Amino acid sequence: MWRFGGRRGLGALQRLSGRRTHRNVWRGKSDQACERALQYKVGEKIHGFTVNQVTSVPELFLTAVKLSHDSTGARYLHLAREDKNNLFSVQFRTTPMDSTGVPHVLEHTVLCGSQKYPCRDPFFKMLNRSLSTFMNAFTASDYTMYPFSTQNPKDFQNLLSVYLDATFFPCLRELDFWQEGWRLEHENPSDPQTPLIFKGVVFNEMKGAFTDNERIFSQHLQNKLLPDHTYSVVSGGDPLCIPELTWEQLKEFHATHYHPSNARFFTYGNFQLEQHLKQIQEEALSKFQKMEQSTVVPAQKHWDKPREFHIACGPDSLATDASKQTTVSVSFLLPDITDTFEAFTLNLLSSLLISGPNSPFYKALIESGLGTDFSPDVGYNGYTREAYFSIGLQGISEKDVRTVKELVDKTIEEVIEKGFEDDRIEALLHKIEIQMKHQSTSFGLALTSYIASCWNHDGDPVELLQMGNQLAKFRQCLKENPKFLQEKVEQYFKNNQHKLTLSMKPDDKYYEKQTQMEAEKLKQKVISLSQEDKQQIYKKGLELRTQQSKPQDASCLPALKVSDIEPSIPFIQFDVSLAAGDIPVQYCAQPTNGVVYFRAFCSLNTLPEELRPYVPLFCSVLTKLGCGILDYREQAQQIELKTGGMTVSPQVLPDDSHLDTYEQGVLFSSLCLDRNLPDMMHLWTEIFNNPCFEEEDRFKVLVKMAAQELSNGIPDSGHLYAALRASKTLTPAADLQETFGGMDQVRLMKRIAEMTDVKPILRKLPRIKKYLLNCDNMRILLSRCSVNATPQQMSQAEKDVGNFLRNVGRSKKERKPVRPHVVEKPAHSSSGGSGSQIVRKLIIDPTFKPCQMKTHFQLPFPVNYVGECIRTVPYTDPDHASLKILARLMTAKFLHTEIREKGGAYGGGAKLGHNGIFTLYSYRDPNFIETLQSFGKAVDWAKSGKFTQQDIDEAKLSVFSSVDSPVAPSDKGMDHFLYGLSNEMKQAYREQLFAVSHDQLTTVSNKYLGIGKSTHGLAVLGPENAKIAKDPSWIIR
Ligand SMILES: [Zn+2]
Repeated sequence: MWRFGGRRGLGALQRLSGRRTHRNVWRGKSDQACERALQYKVGEKIHGFTVNQVTSVPELFLTAVKLSHDSTGARYLHLAREDKNNLFSVQFRTTPMDSTGVPHVLEHTVLCGSQKYPCRDPFFKMLNRSLSTFMNAFTASDYTMYPFSTQNPKDFQNLLSVYLDATFFPCLRELDFWQEGWRLEHENPSDPQTPLIFKGVVFNEMKGAFTDNERIFSQHLQNKLLPDHTYSVVSGGDPLCIPELTWEQLKEFHATHYHPSNARFFTYGNFQLEQHLKQIQEEALSKFQKMEQSTVVPAQKHWDKPREFHIACGPDSLATDASKQTTVSVSFLLPDITDTFEAFTLNLLSSLLISGPNSPFYKALIESGLGTDFSPDVGYNGYTREAYFSIGLQGISEKDVRTVKELVDKTIEEVIEKGFEDDRIEALLHKIEIQMKHQSTSFGLALTSYIASCWNHDGDPVELLQMGNQLAKFRQCLKENPKFLQEKVEQYFKNNQHKLTLSMKPDDKYYEKQTQMEAEKLKQKVISLSQEDKQQIYKKGLELRTQQSKPQDASCLPALKVSDIEPSIPFIQFDVSLAAGDIPVQYCAQPTNGVVYFRAFCSLNTLPEELRPYVPLFCSVLTKLGCGILDYREQAQQIELKTGGMTVSPQVLPDDSHLDTYEQGVLFSSLCLDRNLPDMMHLWTEIFNNPCFEEEDRFKVLVKMAAQELSNGIPDSGHLYAALRASKTLTPAADLQETFGGMDQVRLMKRIAEMTDVKPILRKLPRIKKYLLNCDNMRILLSRCSVNATPQQMSQAEKDVGNFLRNVGRSKKERKPVRPHVVEKPAHSSSGGSGSQIVRKLIIDPTFKPCQMKTHFQLPFPVNYVGECIRTVPYTDPDHASLKILARLMTAKFLHTEIREKGGAYGGGAKLGHNGIFTLYSYRDPNFIETLQSFGKAVDWAKSGKFTQQDIDEAKLSVFSSVDSPVAPSDKGMDHFLYGLSNEMKQAYREQLFAVSHDQLTTVSNKYLGIGKSTHGLAVLGPENAKIAKDPSWIIR
């Protein structure tokens, strides 16, 4: 995988939130790991390492231990924290000087087998032999990182062994380089008459990556703003340069970069540090001597005057208004990211400048109506040695480029003059507080990503983690100098000559030109080949194919057994009681660290059919247009000051026992600090009772941003759109899901965004509100609420939620559901639970007939996203568990080889949803017809039963590692709240998974997957295809 840049605004800080044990309630074990780590002494020697620093970081509930390896100089950071989900990562500074993608191809190739584990693809194989909660590898602009996490100590050792061997002792065989990097091969490898073409996983991955216009822009932005060294090249590889890379260069790059002296090791969690150090020393570091590094990135030379560039990209796949597809941004070089306090300050400053409708750049640019959304990489970017700030717009007319530049300059002047309101600074600091307290399930991963860039350039990762110190220092600076922030703006933005203006405009012939250049490159390569070379290529193509088709022996790899899996799930405790008379509220006490999570679910059963497509739009603007006496700016300010976010989303929830039954509704979700709960509930009351739908200009801005975001997301999520479409005609729930979130929704939003008069659309919103939130029928529509909070907070929460429910409508007048077939179904409750129950109002559609449909969405991409869906059985049917294991088995043992290794797609596989839809898919796939054939072959393979007990056990491990993946305290109990599943049902399902046998697997393959057995649907997103165009069974959109 190749990762470029980061997320918008407070990206890095946002990711900083993880699990934490609450001190008052779960006392006892809470601090063992941290206290144990505090016992280490500076200077202490452990397994070839020396302890350099031991620091307690109370704000993140962890102890940091910094070490260095005596004989190689390898750096090591251990973060001890009472968290079972332990993480390891090793990171190498990789600073390529060309765009052949050498670090990226290397990242892929080291995973093709190593000295101790010579089997192909140990990572993919370990997915089936482990209970890992995360395994990956990725190439950034200046480092390559290999992280994994698991909750099982034995698994940790197994994975560590595989990771160390892969990175330090890979085989790097020539055939691996051919498969993963690039190669010339006959289109059909067994037929030398077919033309020679470029193939290779990274080659295709990067072709796919650059169908994303935002990526093209970001890549050029970094290349041009930091032109002197490694940041001027494409670390992932430019498809036109990748074929220049040789196998020798790859091996050389490994020898000079993947060395302990250039490595940073990171471990996190509650496992023993000594054990990690011992294993790393024995299995890797003891075999190396110190090496001089040559990977340092020098400081960028500062410009003496600003620069300007124009670039081209592909046309927006969905835009109808070709005249408004230009992007422009102005970017400024900032100081070195190893200056952690300056980086912290500039990150906060960036947030004040661009986040939310009250920020100066939002007002000046977004609300100017010139464009659809901010330009890519807007805000602070701290992923390169020197950071940069970028600001601009996308979706503008070419003629407005100048205006945008002027607005940027003018806004900077205004900020220098006026500064920021105190309230906004307070809201931002509150946001940081809540982000530090909110707990995600992958805190270790968040931490390693957070420190990676700074540490990579020898900054102090521990200083970076001490956010409490930085916050205090920040407050102090503001107190001492009220113009602190304004002066920074003046220094870094106004008086900074290292300033780049970059504009990008679509060229209708962009992909055509890319194809031509690739063809030219191919021609050059082929012309230079001798007859003998051609023979070689043919032979190697066959050899690769033979290798790939050979049954593989993975027995060299360590593995857990099915017996290592926990036989039962920990039961989650919650209470349901009625509030305000008759509305069920689920209370789930959790160590939430002083944060309260509130959710409410409203039914959509009375909504007229013609309003349904507008529900997602309604949801996305409901909390952003103002409510009660608050206009939208005041509302945004209140939400930031009092909550950690208030969101609304459409929901289609499948039933557990009938495929044609489902629940439709809207979910309201929010979180806040304990002390702010009454304020948050008051905001909800106002949003429910008095939402505003008047501000037309504001509405236009929101629609444009939402539409732009949807269409930008297609290159990344094409397989999901294909699958949604393919399942549309299989169940009524899938049909509604496609309406809410499929390609039709993307196109509808795009159409609305391009309307000159949005009033007719805006007028639909109060109508939806009437059916969803109207006081008259609130009793019928507001189906249930839930609260996750600490036990101490529960009684206060009960009071506040009760008040809210009493305030949102009283009448009991019933409105008839539009669909006549509604059944009431109580949620399954655990035995011995209290009397009150959640009752779900499900829709049954007896007229629904599943049918086959094939859709081809023609998009101007050079790759395809293919989805084939099959209607199977609901969750409680015993066959569901068998199909779940089967999907994993087909992915690991058949589809991965066919679609990725042989076909050259970035990914592909099979999966079974809770909704009973079995999906076969491919991702960034150069093929289409061949992939559909592979799906067919996969089914034949499954039916034939040519798999072993070992294969089945591996599939089970893999399924359980996702079934047992950690759940954050905020999300505990949600299976019951949303889907009505009880602990007992989940345990029963678990037992079915354990029991799945070879016979059952072949039986379900025969029963459901074959043609003519169940209804199938197909959908493809991708370029024009001559064969499909001639086939009348396909609908072309
Ligand atoms: Zn990759």
